[in-house]
Amino acid sequence: MIPPDHPRYRSLEVRERMAWFAREGVVSPEGLAAHGRGEAFDYLLGERSTESALLAARTAAALLLSARHPVISVNGNTAALAGREIRDLQKATRAVVEVNLFHRTPERLDKVTRLLEGHGVAVLEGEEERLIPVSHDRGWSHRDGAVAADVILVPLEDGDRAEALVTLGKKVIAIDLNPLSRTARAATLTIVDEVTRAIPAITRAAGNLSRGEGEKLISQLNNSYFLQAALDEMAARLTHALD
Ligand code: ATP
Ligand code: MG
Repeated sequence: MIPPDHPRYRSLEVRERMAWFAREGVVSPEGLAAHGRGEAFDYLLGERSTESALLAARTAAALLLSARHPVISVNGNTAALAGREIRDLQKATRAVVEVNLFHRTPERLDKVTRLLEGHGVAVLEGEEERLIPVSHDRGWSHRDGAVAADVILVPLEDGDRAEALVTLGKKVIAIDLNPLSRTARAATLTIVDEVTRAIPAITRAAGNLSRGEGEKLISQLNNSYFLQAALDEMAARLTHALD
């Protein structure tokens, strides 16, 4: 039991949740390590959404709302952390939600799908094929899933697949706390923020974005700006950490 007045309560509570989902087989053991890398970058960001991350989330909402076939690709960590948040974003954008796992087994696929459905998410099910050109199991997709998307949101993505999706001509929106990762650099747009803050920020923006503002945000999109802004935030905090 974590005391609610512990200064690191939120972080410890999330860790406890992730450990529980790992025991349940929703999160892979490797997913716990990936979570730890995310935590380290979040510490450097100050565990808050920066101005530039909020602007990136607003741009993400514009891309999703303007899409012909928006898709949200969900892995085990994202499902464990943000099931409800994904439901709300799906409602706001009418996106298709597809489960996509690096450590893929039929049992895990089923567990992640049921967890999302328990939160009210409509999950794409049925036959899948290896339709995305990567040499690992993130290559599986339904015909109406990632492979059919024109805009795809990939929280906690793998660099290989992010690159492959861009090569297939898709607009790829990544959520990744590490602005240096291959995913963050390959994506069309990267939101450098924690997934449980970034997804609600996209949903909120989708609820109050005019068509005109959306078009302007898309025409101004420059991912290097968002990555550099995140690096600048982290660098400033490191430089003045002991002030
Ligand atoms: P890449 O494959 O893009 O080069 P990587 O191999 O370093 O990246 P992965 O293990 O593929 O990283 O994925 C984990 C990524 O997800 C890390 O970059 C980590 O910072 C990020 N991450 C982990 N947890 C969260 C979270 N809760 N919110 C946002 N990002 C997160
Ligand atoms: Mg990787």
